[in-house]
Amino acid sequence: KTKQVARPEPDKLLPQVKNIIAVSSGKGGVGKSTVAANLAVALAQLGYKVGLLDADIFGPSMPKMFNVEDARPYMETVGERELIKPIEKYGVKLLSIGFFVSKEDAVLWRGSMASNALKQLIADANWGELDFFLLDLPPGTSDIHLTLVQTLAITGAVVVSTPQEVALADARKGISMFTGEKIDVPVLGLIENMAWFTPAELPENKYYIFGKEGCKKLAEELSIPLIGQIPIVQSICEGGDSGKPVALDTDSLTGMAFKQLAENMV
Ligand code: ADP
Repeated sequence: KTKQVARPEPDKLLPQVKNIIAVSSGKGGVGKSTVAANLAVALAQLGYKVGLLDADIFGPSMPKMFNVEDARPYMETVGERELIKPIEKYGVKLLSIGFFVSKEDAVLWRGSMASNALKQLIADANWGELDFFLLDLPPGTSDIHLTLVQTLAITGAVVVSTPQEVALADARKGISMFTGEKIDVPVLGLIENMAWFTPAELPENKYYIFGKEGCKKLAEELSIPLIGQIPIVQSICEGGDSGKPVALDTDSLTGMAFKQLAENMV
């Protein structure tokens, strides 16, 4: 029988943080980072204090998604300590390993280096008071996940998947990691991304490109909530590339979808 990893007591490391939410996926490319970025922005738009840690250490994408690729965080004195000051954009406090090393260098890191870097971004940064601290995890299951679970009293995890069979199989693995013998983090629910596509000229139609309601069915089977469904929308993709998450546009249908997702989380 594997030994359970000891989880830290709540309030030890970040006493001013109310909820620590891990955003994870089984597979890469399902839109985990896109959902994390938009969720962070949507929560901030709702008036919550939000922090986002890009812990996708081997493929940090938050600097681009927030259009702060050239940002370099300063140190600031807080009491007796020198702490890293997170970058603030769109009402979200953001740190990413991408601010400190080039993408080319980060991929060469060993697990232990990556874990230590992440610990620093958590413990030696001035996150201050937060209602929600989102962690954009690397895909799959890795040492990074173990490190984070041992470092932070994670409130719960949300798992992002597309409705496609291969993605669902990996999402299932991700869920069983959180609820397994080794790690015991509550799974708050599944988010179905790329759930359908609606062409502009056929607004009544839904095309289920990756399959219909796969996450909904998996959520039912595992008795976990389906937090929400996000369709395939060009502006979501463009928002990622231009560094302006679509959730900023609260009047658009897609912006509203992320607002709804955020409301379902709180
Ligand atoms: P992951 O973090 O799971 O690897 P990303 O968030 O990087 O995935 O998303 C993968 C690609 O899919 C990106 O180009 C992103 O812009 C795009 N994408 C994600 N979700 C959607 C969506 N709902 N509609 C359109 N494009 C999306």
